[in-house]
Amino acid sequence: MQILVTGAAGYIGSHVVKQLLEQTDYKIVIIDNLSTGFDSTIETLKSLDTTKSRIKFYNQDLSNWSEIEKIFEENCIKEIIHFAAFSQVAESMKNPIKYYSNNTINTTNLINIATKYGVKKFIFSSTAAVYGEVSSENIPIKESLITNPINPYGSSKLFSESIIKDVASIKNDFKYIILRYFNVAGADLDGKVGECHNPETHLIPLVIKTALGKRESIKIFGDDYDTPDGTCIRDYIHVCDLADAHIEALKYLDTNESDTFNCGYGYGYSVKEVVEMVKKVSNVEFKIEIEKRRVGDPAVLISDNTKIKTKMNWTPKYNDLELICKTALEWEKRI
Ligand code: UDP
Repeated sequence: MQILVTGAAGYIGSHVVKQLLEQTDYKIVIIDNLSTGFDSTIETLKSLDTTKSRIKFYNQDLSNWSEIEKIFEENCIKEIIHFAAFSQVAESMKNPIKYYSNNTINTTNLINIATKYGVKKFIFSSTAAVYGEVSSENIPIKESLITNPINPYGSSKLFSESIIKDVASIKNDFKYIILRYFNVAGADLDGKVGECHNPETHLIPLVIKTALGKRESIKIFGDDYDTPDGTCIRDYIHVCDLADAHIEALKYLDTNESDTFNCGYGYGYSVKEVVEMVKKVSNVEFKIEIEKRRVGDPAVLISDNTKIKTKMNWTPKYNDLELICKTALEWEKRI
């Protein structure tokens, strides 16, 4: 059985491929254009394949429709986990077409080819950004909350969600799981793969780079929010728990119908709490600067994860900010 993983050279995709190698028998076809992912990550994943025959890598862009179709002709792909996408909110506000082209149009094309070649399971990486600004009475956020994205990144993912659902509604044998990620952080406990964005914009890697002296200071974007310490609160999920949700989603579709799930721990930490935790695990004092609020940052984003815990057989194992920061620190020391 072959599974296609798009975007496997990236942060979350690489952790999922590692778990697919360790926990399943799948042969894995990877499509990645290496625009934000790394060739070295593909090499690492190949090195983890003890059989040396389970990974087939295509350096290809999803917009090359005819080339993508050839990959389906050459292989027997019946399942897909689709990560390949752009994911920076600020960039999406400056260049919306880039986001709709890749995240929505290329996803539409992939689904079109997938259904033509008889794909049965489609796992889609979506985001909490589809919810937009959420009022305090709707925290923690349930999947049933009305979606109302406030940036092209969130909209581009939400359009894809709709397309997936519409296609599934007319194709009985095409099933999907949409996973809406909250704040993904941390790194593989073996230290083989980890987070590497260029430019890096996420809080935890930036604080860790500061602790390691790779940056002069960490800027806190706003300390005047309506939260206990004035800084934004986020639900940080360890990337290995998130990767595990994808493996469980594949199994879930064997006996269950298509569905949408939040991926988070249902608990939030403030920016200041994250900074303090990084100080603790690194044992380093570093410079903190309070800046004005970053545009588009909601005060609090916390998932209600009841649905994924009760309906899917997903049990978080690394629900611990200290472990998240430690694994991220160990990874950052290596790169
Ligand atoms: N943040 C910050 N300084 C930084 C990067 C992020 O204060 O250098 C804050 C950001 O304003 C947000 C939280 O950290 O409140 C998480 O931001 P991140 O970009 O990691 O994820 P997001 O929640 O935007 O997806």
